Amino acid sequence: MKKLIPVLVVILSVCNSYAIMAQGFSGPVVRKVVIDPGHGGHDPGALSPDRKLREKDINLSVAKHLGAEISKKYSDIKVIYTRTADVAVDLDKRGTLATREDADLFISIHVNSAKRTTSVPVGPETWVFGGDRSRRKDDSYDVVLKENEVIKFEENYEAKYEGFDPDNPESMIVFNFQKDAIMRQSRILGSCIQQSLRRSSFLGGQNDRGLKEGGFVVLAYCSMPAILVEMGFLNSSADRKILSTENGRRNIARQLMLGFEEYLESYGENGLSAVNTEVPEIQYRVQILSTREALPASHETLKAFPATELVVCNDQIYKYKYTLGNFPDREDAQEYCNNLRKSDFPDAFVIAVKDGKLVPAN
Ligand SMILES: [Zn+2]
Repeated sequence: MKKLIPVLVVILSVCNSYAIMAQGFSGPVVRKVVIDPGHGGHDPGALSPDRKLREKDINLSVAKHLGAEISKKYSDIKVIYTRTADVAVDLDKRGTLATREDADLFISIHVNSAKRTTSVPVGPETWVFGGDRSRRKDDSYDVVLKENEVIKFEENYEAKYEGFDPDNPESMIVFNFQKDAIMRQSRILGSCIQQSLRRSSFLGGQNDRGLKEGGFVVLAYCSMPAILVEMGFLNSSADRKILSTENGRRNIARQLMLGFEEYLESYGENGLSAVNTEVPEIQYRVQILSTREALPASHETLKAFPATELVVCNDQIYKYKYTLGNFPDREDAQEYCNNLRKSDFPDAFVIAVKDGKLVPAN
């Protein structure tokens, strides 16, 4: 059961999105927000150079300020925290809590730190869950590794995260399944928040580090629009000045609130309501493999073909369909398939996928 959690995330995402499409909207669109103060307990997160300031405390403080602002202004929006005290919470539990609560948004709050000790970067950046950044080994990627690292301290993490290895970003393939509609919403929320932080004069706003995509475990378990905010760098003296005081933390929460409100306001135009009327496109893919049980990320085919995507068909015995390629045009898919047959997969064939589900290919 535990091994299937990442797959369940896919299914939950699909179901969630279907539910949204079926229901339509009445009343407030955002009813529940989960605020996730990163780290806690034995995991302090980033530390200031003198080790007196701990990321976990800053995160909690900003999270509470933000939650209080939302509650004060929007009595119909319920705020749920993944932690309200200095305790450790497993990364998967943070996302699954939001899913279980049927939350509409998930906001994870963090503070950055750079490996470098000279010319330390400055300023906020906002992340959404996204694709395979395995080949990107720059500063930004360090953030993903750093935030995922904590799972090593969680009990039985190898089994729980189905072979995901926080030191080997390529194994993130087990998580690479979020619905397009949710990803799109996450990006809208992320850009509202990032723009608001950038506009603040007190953070290193002049240095916009932007909206980024990365394989954060905590976001992989969310089946609703979800973002992770890195408010600033704890080893940058400019950012630390703001992050270290209660007033500074309140100001950051205020900027987060303004970004959140902008998202609420822009919802009608860009939101899921627009997705309701969207006709999902058919994608043609090439099935290379199907299995009864989900393959571990360490499986040689997945390692050799990191672009492999998964389609789950719950009504079939061989329900895990592993596919390569993604074409709007059937002919193109067939040509690609013919090449795969000649090389690695003699039994490959073209399938059609619509909104994450298998449909007749003709
Ligand atoms: Zn963090």
